[in-house]
Amino acid sequence: MKEAALLALSEGMEIDQIQITETGLVVSVISTHPQSCCPLCSQPSSHIHSHYHRSLKDAPCVGRQLQLSLTVRKFFCRNPDCSRKVFTERLKRLAEPWARMTTRLREQITSIGLATCGKGGVRLANRLGIETSRNTTLRRMMDMPDDARGSVVYLGIDDFSFQRGYRFGTILVDLESHRPIDLLPDRQAETAAAWMRDNPEIQVVSRDRASAYASAASEAAPLAIQVADRFHVSKNLTEATQLLLARCQAEIAAASKMEEPAQNESGQPMISIEEWRPKEPAHVKQRRLTRRAGREARYEQAMERHSQGLSAKEIAGQLGMSQRTVQTWLAAETFPEAKKRRKKRSDFDLFAPYVLKRWQEGERNGLTLWREIHKQGYIGSERTVYRHIETLKQASVQAAFNPHRLHTFTASTAVWLFVRDKKSLDEIEQEDLATFCQASPTLKRTYDLVQDFMQMVRKREGYRLDAWLERVSSSDLAELQQFATGVEKDKAAVKAGLTWSINNGQVEGQVTKLKLIKRSMYGRAGFPLLRQRVLHAV
Ligand SMILES: [Zn+2]
Repeated sequence: MKEAALLALSEGMEIDQIQITETGLVVSVISTHPQSCCPLCSQPSSHIHSHYHRSLKDAPCVGRQLQLSLTVRKFFCRNPDCSRKVFTERLKRLAEPWARMTTRLREQITSIGLATCGKGGVRLANRLGIETSRNTTLRRMMDMPDDARGSVVYLGIDDFSFQRGYRFGTILVDLESHRPIDLLPDRQAETAAAWMRDNPEIQVVSRDRASAYASAASEAAPLAIQVADRFHVSKNLTEATQLLLARCQAEIAAASKMEEPAQNESGQPMISIEEWRPKEPAHVKQRRLTRRAGREARYEQAMERHSQGLSAKEIAGQLGMSQRTVQTWLAAETFPEAKKRRKKRSDFDLFAPYVLKRWQEGERNGLTLWREIHKQGYIGSERTVYRHIETLKQASVQAAFNPHRLHTFTASTAVWLFVRDKKSLDEIEQEDLATFCQASPTLKRTYDLVQDFMQMVRKREGYRLDAWLERVSSSDLAELQQFATGVEKDKAAVKAGLTWSINNGQVEGQVTKLKLIKRSMYGRAGFPLLRQRVLHAV
């Protein structure tokens, strides 16, 4: 029968009649299959004992609630060896024996529950024509089978915080399948160890530097190779470098204060030689200021519309701007100045120290200066030299580094100049980095050591770890030595982390996903529900 196909009923079930009621549709279904198999001995039987009615809620149909009214039968089991004498006919995939809803409706409710949160899920279900309650949704989720856990060979383990950071749990990720395999309600070594004991196939444990997971793995999976996650090792080094920077900055600041009177006699702004640019011609300056005024006017218009309640998209449309710019402006508290023009490398740079020295000796003639450097190989024009000299009349350029530039950095912002790959720094950042290294030989030594370590991280050169640790121990950098002492204690795992391609990056990704799930539960859900939702997340 075609209607039966529409409802996806089991074989041998037919639609008897369809009634439209006030609340929805009632579909009467009868079972016509001549036989049914005994659930105990699996032998087919065609001896009907009796008929009975069963009512099942089904997934909504064209927006109406759907009720299945089934007439099913009981059969005799005629197998003399079987202890079951009478059995009810099975509905196969349609519904579980004692269920009051069809399997497909139960799956829909579970999916809604997993994708949303308690109350929101109930509201959404109602909109879709599914009548359910918060308790039912929760129960459906908690009833889901715990079969996500398979055997795991490459285990990633990390902690995460729930309940606003004062309680922590543990997430376990299969690094091969990229799926979370379990959540533990705390981050204690014993809990993690117990879990690992239940999973004896583990061969590799990728973990952070916290000693809880290290000791859990040593105790419960002694044969597994432990890999200290590169991300965490780099983070530890970054923290050590930051401490060192803070100390050095204080020293630099103290030193520069003593020099200050000699340098500041005329009250002119001071710039470093790397920042020395030709004076901006009047028409260029005019154009820049006009542009800025235009930008500022539009900024004010955007703010006004924003205060009237317009969305970023509407503002962008009205002002003919990109939505992204509007969003950036709304996020910034004040008018954001255009990014500082990057200095272009020029032929003059090579000769800048010489020109500056001659200027300080009293040579003021541009043509003379041009002739002198032209002889040394300068190929640029006289005009460029004049324009650089114009700048010298308004600002004092220092041949050495300008310590004042370092004041704009805190240790936590400067540390990224030290840790990041030099190739990823733009020109201004490279200049800032050079200024730091010139400011203090300690910082230069720090930079070399930090970059060398990061090179090991980036290129997986774990074999160089011992040599690196030795260099640190013979240096005078107490903060890095402390980091090295920590590494010594966990050296095998750190070396594995610097050598193997395996890492916990995806565990971090799973923690991020988990946080999103947690947030959508308004922080009220208990750990068991969080676990279900993370393990069964789509
Ligand atoms: Zn039987």
